[in-house]
Amino acid sequence: MSTESGEGSPFDVGALTDVGRRRKRNEDSLRVTRWPGGLLCIVADGMGGHVGGDVASRLAVEGAEQGYDAAAGAMEDRLRNAVEIANVAVWKEAERQPSLLGMGTTLVCAAIDDGRFAIAHVGDSRAYLADAESIRQLTVDHSWVAEQVLAGAMTAEEAAKHPFRGVITRCVGCQPTVSPDLISAIPFPEDSTLLLCSDGLTTHVSDDEIRESLEQPHSDDAARTLVDLANSRGGTDNITVVVVRRQRLPA
Ligand code: CA
Repeated sequence: MSTESGEGSPFDVGALTDVGRRRKRNEDSLRVTRWPGGLLCIVADGMGGHVGGDVASRLAVEGAEQGYDAAAGAMEDRLRNAVEIANVAVWKEAERQPSLLGMGTTLVCAAIDDGRFAIAHVGDSRAYLADAESIRQLTVDHSWVAEQVLAGAMTAEEAAKHPFRGVITRCVGCQPTVSPDLISAIPFPEDSTLLLCSDGLTTHVSDDEIRESLEQPHSDDAARTLVDLANSRGGTDNITVVVVRRQRLPA
């Protein structure tokens, strides 16, 4: 667990990754990097059923951090470069080591700076924005069931229980290039909370339950509450959460 309070920072961060109750290995990875006035938060979920899921997610978060750091310009341009470098890192390693062929990972990155945030994602790891009254899923899963819902062939409730719900349609490191979905910088309201998570959380915990769990006064408690809730429902997958609350600082 890593929790970073950051002296004088408006951001209270709680980050936690957990193997869950059924899996032998944790194939999720997370990273939180602070800079003055801002943060880069990354969650990756290595592909289950493939060799090297843990390698893929680790390489992806390292690559994304380097790619963001190396790029200049707007947050969304830097995020695009982050995903590109992550993709190359995973793809090249899979080419180099035959035993890792076919590995891949989801990736969701949030860059936060100057009271705004931007998001890039590939796969079914999600970003949410919540406050005391509401919660909104910011990302649209790159998954087969999400496509069915968009096409009107399935309801969201059916999708959440569908046996193919884990099948993703886009992943980092599975092809020489990948195209992320990007959310350009939008305001990060005070007293609201940004959550990044892997599907090990959302398989077991509803959006309303997530919002309630985020009401804890400290982000590390909120992160723990979310992971405990997923585990109490069976913990069938690895669970990763990064909780970022934008606190109201005294004037
Ligand atoms: Ca997963």
